[in-house]
Amino acid sequence: MKFEFYNSATIKAPGALVGAGPDWSPVTLKVRWAFLDHPTFGPTLVDTGYGPSTYPSLASGGSSPSGNGLPTRSIGLRMYTSLFRARLRPEGQIDAVLADKGLTLEDIQYVIVTHFHVDHVSELRRFSNARILASRRGFDAVRRAGWRASLLHGTFTELLPTDLDRRLEPIEALPPINLPDGLGTGWLLVPELASLVPMNGHATGQVGIYIHSEHYLYAVDAHFVLGALDRAAEGLEPGLTKPKVTLSGLPRLIADDIAAAETTLARLAAFKRAGGRVGLCHDPDRDPFDAG
Ligand SMILES: [Zn+2]
Repeated sequence: MKFEFYNSATIKAPGALVGAGPDWSPVTLKVRWAFLDHPTFGPTLVDTGYGPSTYPSLASGGSSPSGNGLPTRSIGLRMYTSLFRARLRPEGQIDAVLADKGLTLEDIQYVIVTHFHVDHVSELRRFSNARILASRRGFDAVRRAGWRASLLHGTFTELLPTDLDRRLEPIEALPPINLPDGLGTGWLLVPELASLVPMNGHATGQVGIYIHSEHYLYAVDAHFVLGALDRAAEGLEPGLTKPKVTLSGLPRLIADDIAAAETTLARLAAFKRAGGRVGLCHDPDRDPFDAG
């Protein structure tokens, strides 16, 4: 089973703002998505990263629908993009990566959505045939959110397929599986190879991916930088359910449920201490599954 990350974009952000420590000097975050060669589903993506639906190139018309074939972005989405100013990486875009593999967007059978934040679903509308495996609870929360919550959490329904309600296959309906080292109960994705793991707190219904053979957990946005997780692991005393190092900065501000997010952080810290390896969507350093 192939599982590999690609980096769709970079974002420069002050370190202290993203919880990387007290230093405000900038760090360059990645925006990963993954290609998964699922033995029965077929070619599968995990999220989409950022792409032209969120960041149309200025040369092709900016926010205008003319010239780039993309719909006009809402004021909220334009405000969001001008705040975060991601730089797309052409070589990390889905089209380019799939072309390298001799595949097209139409060949993708499934897209697993870890959660509905814009940097994970930016290109979801372009997959008109793929089935979408996602948290039903997460999708319902996004549909119910008002504009303030949408802007704060970076969820924009304009980026979601209009028939998503019909095409969504709920992660919650997959067979449950007990996972080791404090990860709790997850859902079976590939027997003996990969499982989905609840990562509560950051966004309603967020799931990570556990790769059994590597004792590796892709914890998506449980935090933005691994350094914060290491500090949480140091501060975790036996028997404590919360790490001494708690969420701060942007990860705290945008968390759907701060207490749940800190509990997830404590679980990850305990998993690391038990010898598990953790990867994150935005961590600046190299991940063992980074392919490009
Ligand atoms: Zn997120």
